[in-house]
Amino acid sequence: FRGFGRPPAPPGAPGGFSAEAVRHDFPVLHRTVNGHPLVWLDNAATTQKPRQVIEALTAYYGLANSNVHRGAHTMAREATEAYEAARAAVARFLGAPEPESVVFVRGTTEAVNLVAQSWGRAHLGPGDDVLVPVLEHHSDIVPWQLIARETRARLVPLPLTPDGDIDPAAYADRLSSRTRLVALSHASNVLGTVPPVREMIALAHRYRARVLVDGAQAVAHFPVDVRELDADFYAFSGHKVFAPTGIGALYVKPEVLAGMGPWQGGGSMIESVGFDGSTFAPPPQLLEAGTGNIAGAVGLLAALRWLSALDRDAVAAYEAGLLRHAEDALSAVDGLRLVGTAAHRIAVLTFTLAGRDPLAVADWLDRDGIAVRAGHHCAQPALAHYGLTSAVRASLALYNTPGEVDRLAESLTRLRRSGP
Ligand code: PLP
Repeated sequence: FRGFGRPPAPPGAPGGFSAEAVRHDFPVLHRTVNGHPLVWLDNAATTQKPRQVIEALTAYYGLANSNVHRGAHTMAREATEAYEAARAAVARFLGAPEPESVVFVRGTTEAVNLVAQSWGRAHLGPGDDVLVPVLEHHSDIVPWQLIARETRARLVPLPLTPDGDIDPAAYADRLSSRTRLVALSHASNVLGTVPPVREMIALAHRYRARVLVDGAQAVAHFPVDVRELDADFYAFSGHKVFAPTGIGALYVKPEVLAGMGPWQGGGSMIESVGFDGSTFAPPPQLLEAGTGNIAGAVGLLAALRWLSALDRDAVAAYEAGLLRHAEDALSAVDGLRLVGTAAHRIAVLTFTLAGRDPLAVADWLDRDGIAVRAGHHCAQPALAHYGLTSAVRASLALYNTPGEVDRLAESLTRLRRSGP
């Protein structure tokens, strides 16, 4: 596919990675906030967009806006080509066997709801178990609560260790012939924990349970291969991987997808409609009723091209070093308590500062141009595990630098010294 999202010049030296070099691609990282150069440490909420993504959106809306699949004209064909190129790019990005195993969704939340409403409604019933770690984002808890209530299945929480890992003994203990589904995150948005997903999937498959992996926080940080994981479902949101909001993807293992029924009705998902009944298109269209986010898909294509041109292992190594630097810098701040110390983590640092409300801490940092998030992070059960209802979170991405982390630590130290 030509036109939108031309391949980027690989930033940094070949075979290496330079955060300083990739920063040139992000216009927003060069603005000031409250008189200070912006330090964007709210990447777990959403990532910033490289100019390649912004240019792809401008080119699409400026030159080629059309609905897909329907119109018999040149621009409809171009838009359809772009949309399907994005689907193929997602398949390659995830190591999926074929583009048809990728369903476009609004984001991870919609993907989980889709699986709950389509697959869950057909496969869950009284006496069945859905296992969900306490670690999960609310979007991987509430959809299961809703469908479990309807189908009278049971939602079984998987407890955490003090470090914030999923307790392996409890997992082995809770799995049984009643388990129909395990739904877990590939990386936690609040503790950063990266569970041993491949091993957990293999164990679940021994009980013939399906496994949904929420990759919202994973895909921007390390390469993913759904076939190597043997995941049945894998979901992510475009906006957390340098693409626009309102577009995401759900991978479904082909043999599982073949058995899934519609979850929403409308245009695009039918073959024929009559008042005596309708017939449906095959997946993935079956699960994509209505006009999708075509511009979002074009932006996602540009983002995945941009990211895939980097040396992903070098990026992961850089981020691991940045995490160690951040842990050291924050540990030196008097009264700061880091929450979540799992050995295998992405660079998410959640913390409290003695005697300070997390919202007031975020407000203080904002005045220094540093964007973090404060609150429950849509993971109330995970925070409750530490006796907390609210905390501050600094979440790092590949374009963050040790100097920015030092500014965070320095600002927190000044806050601590500023009196009650
Ligand atoms: N899952 C995890 C682990 C997340 O961090 C998030 C967002 O923060 C979501 C799911 C929901 O993503 P979205 O709001 O893009 O649907």
